[in-house]
Amino acid sequence: MTISGIKGMNDILPNEVQTWQFLESTARRIFETYGFTEIRVPVVEKTELFCRSIGETTDIVEKEMYTFTDKSGNSLSLRPEGTAPVMRSFIEHKLYTLDPVNKLYYLGPMFRYERPQKGRYRQFHQIGAEVIGVDDPRIDAQVLIMLVHFFAAAGIDTVELQINSLGCKECRPGYRQMLVTFLESRLNALCDDCRRRYLANPLRVLDCKVPGCREATVAAPSVLDHLCAGCNDHFVAVRSSLDATKTPYAINPRMVRGLDYYTKTTFEMVTENLGAQNAVAAGGRYDGLIKSLGGPSLSGIGFAAGLERLALLKTSSPVPPPRPDLFIAALGDAAGKEAFLLMSSLLQRNFRVEIDFLGKSLKSQLRRADKLGARFVLIIGEDELARNSAPLRDMRTATQDEVGLTDLAQLLMERLQQNSAPI
Ligand code: ATP
Ligand code: MG
Repeated sequence: MTISGIKGMNDILPNEVQTWQFLESTARRIFETYGFTEIRVPVVEKTELFCRSIGETTDIVEKEMYTFTDKSGNSLSLRPEGTAPVMRSFIEHKLYTLDPVNKLYYLGPMFRYERPQKGRYRQFHQIGAEVIGVDDPRIDAQVLIMLVHFFAAAGIDTVELQINSLGCKECRPGYRQMLVTFLESRLNALCDDCRRRYLANPLRVLDCKVPGCREATVAAPSVLDHLCAGCNDHFVAVRSSLDATKTPYAINPRMVRGLDYYTKTTFEMVTENLGAQNAVAAGGRYDGLIKSLGGPSLSGIGFAAGLERLALLKTSSPVPPPRPDLFIAALGDAAGKEAFLLMSSLLQRNFRVEIDFLGKSLKSQLRRADKLGARFVLIIGEDELARNSAPLRDMRTATQDEVGLTDLAQLLMERLQQNSAPI
């Protein structure tokens, strides 16, 4: 019996991997341009880290974590997101002592026990970035500009940047209370989930996807009308930096995030092309998080983009993989050995070379060379070995001439350069 993979956890197959590599290398390139450096943290952390940072009443902690007890009795969880582990590492290694401003990015698998569907999986991948240590609203704008830049560089233009502010510990409690009062007047119209959690986490009700909850909360008070002066000034300043740089965005006062640690600016990159999975990237400011995890009182802002959703939106195919420069077709044992030696020495010099390993006929070797898209084919048999030269066929022009085997690398280099112009 064959063993299958785990539901909601996908293989990324060779014919898909190029899109992934393209998205990853584009993110690295753009993020590094903006001064971010990569940080790599484990995929498993103490469960407590996520409970304390993401919040006990969030979907992630309530029902989506892969939590297990290890052989020493510790409760561990596969990371459902990247910010908490990065902050844990930042605090543990006192990165703030090295530089007052830290710009970090990460990339890797995350795990959430969700109902698998298009764009929603149990193992998925995020590329994320965090800036720690800057209160200035211009950094919020810069993070947003970088996100927009990344999407443009990735060739994904079916998205809209939406922003909101969730206030801070000064103004959010007042808004929250107002929202609770509003929700209490409409409890009967809310779904079971929302009725259960509206007291613990009223903002989440605004984010509920159930149509009844949407309708019932159309007239809900807007968080933007209840920001304190500090949060309002901050939001105005973020917007004015976005306006000044002509960064397109929309304000969405109903956007709340599914993690408790967010304050002030929050944002999402939203698409209409992925059904209910409409957020491709999401993030915000988390000014109290580092302190609440036992670190210094430093503010932070960051986002994560889901690679699976990015890949689904990336409809144009990326540059195909490089083709072999040369296929050496060999006839007979002696020629097979020589083909292997020639190939080995050319590979050492960074030519892309293929030979046949399956003992195929000359005809089928040539067919394979064609299928692989080899630029040149060298055909060797006993006679060719004896005279130390062989026909080299240019597959693009379908012409061939006799070339010496001793200086093959030099000759190949010249021919590839001569012929590098696109057809
Ligand atoms: P959603 O509302 O779709 O559940 P979320 O608010 O839970 O998203 P975040 O925790 O903010 O998402 O994660 C940021 C990004 O990670 C999302 O915008 C999405 O692209 C991706 N993501 C989150 N959960 C999944 C998942 N289960 N499968 C695939 N991608 C995901
Ligand atoms: Mg979610």
